[in-house]
Amino acid sequence: MAQTLLILIIAFVTLEFIVSSVLSWLNTKWMTHPVPPELEGLYDEEKYRRQQDYMRTNKRVSLIARCVSFALTLIILGFGLLGWLDNQCKAWTDVPVLQVILFLVIYNLFNTVIALPFSYYSTFVIEERFGFNRTTHKTFWLDTIKSFAVSTVLSAVLMAVVYWLYQTFGQQFWIWATLVCAVFIIFFTMFYSNLIVPLFNKQTPLPEGELRDAITAALASFGSKFKDIYIIDGSKHSTKANAYFTGFGPKKRIVLYDTLQDQMTTNEIVAVLAHEFGHYKHRDTFKNMIISIVTIAINLFIFSLLVDNPHLPVALGGTAPSFILALVAFSLLLSPIDLLLSPAGSAISRRAEYRADAFAASHGHGEALISGLKKLASHALSNLTPHPLVVWYSYSHPTLAQRIRAIRTHH
Ligand SMILES: [Zn+2]
Repeated sequence: MAQTLLILIIAFVTLEFIVSSVLSWLNTKWMTHPVPPELEGLYDEEKYRRQQDYMRTNKRVSLIARCVSFALTLIILGFGLLGWLDNQCKAWTDVPVLQVILFLVIYNLFNTVIALPFSYYSTFVIEERFGFNRTTHKTFWLDTIKSFAVSTVLSAVLMAVVYWLYQTFGQQFWIWATLVCAVFIIFFTMFYSNLIVPLFNKQTPLPEGELRDAITAALASFGSKFKDIYIIDGSKHSTKANAYFTGFGPKKRIVLYDTLQDQMTTNEIVAVLAHEFGHYKHRDTFKNMIISIVTIAINLFIFSLLVDNPHLPVALGGTAPSFILALVAFSLLLSPIDLLLSPAGSAISRRAEYRADAFAASHGHGEALISGLKKLASHALSNLTPHPLVVWYSYSHPTLAQRIRAIRTHH
């Protein structure tokens, strides 16, 4: 039985590798496709060559990263190394919850170390060569340490609580664990800008001046007194620009990258803000939160049916019942469902983007949004011709050409 489970897990991991490789290959095949008419002239010949070069370089690195991670996963599964790690953790301490936390910390550390050469190369070789990088070595290492520390502490705390619930309530633990996860998600969605972002970036309220006046006027035209607009120092990491809406309740805010001002006119920034305000109007943060909580509830419920199955830990090389091994095996067994659900998640996200664009367009910011988005895409050397299947499967945003077409129908 455990043998069959292991074969199944390896088959699923392989399937995931094949799907992501095929999608990436499709995109590469499509990248020389003619540019859609809406975007003609966005790149001159010289810049187009740079864009193609940028894409090819990124594809090569992500191909290597994907192969390394696939090979390592096969080695780890084939040699039962997770079971070995679990036994080591059990030998180091007799306290069950500490065994679980120890396993988690080592597992996180391993994943961080494996990803490190790729993120280093991407930042200091690729992004540097194409003129995007602003990250210093000091910032890079501090960020790496901080994000490892934050993700490890948060996941360890959550895991400890869930494990304790399992020990206390047995199979019924999933109900309580869902509640705990829900509180956790709601708390961090709310306080993300106050607790997590300041570890990596500085945010300052939008200062008085031309931009603030224009934004205040636009917000007044939406009938809103919204004033939580912040500038974030994205320039600390990259020259690429962005904007986002975050939080809910009293902690909601619109965040604009300082790099937007290097690339866009005031009208274009106001149009981007109108798009972000559209997300707020449609309560998109809140909806995403509900989707994550429901997903977690379903996952935990299915996991509760399998958690005591003795074959799960054995499939990963374990020799004794183990909550954490069962959890890892479960998440690997569930990966085909993630593959199937990914297009649905992407479609929901793209629909929200269309609606936010429509909000901006219906308030007269359509053309400014189009020219602003074009400048962002051109600066970032974006791929203007992603393969339709890749867009359908994994794009959180519609393509630039699709967005322009949709915005223009709102005039
Ligand atoms: Zn958006």
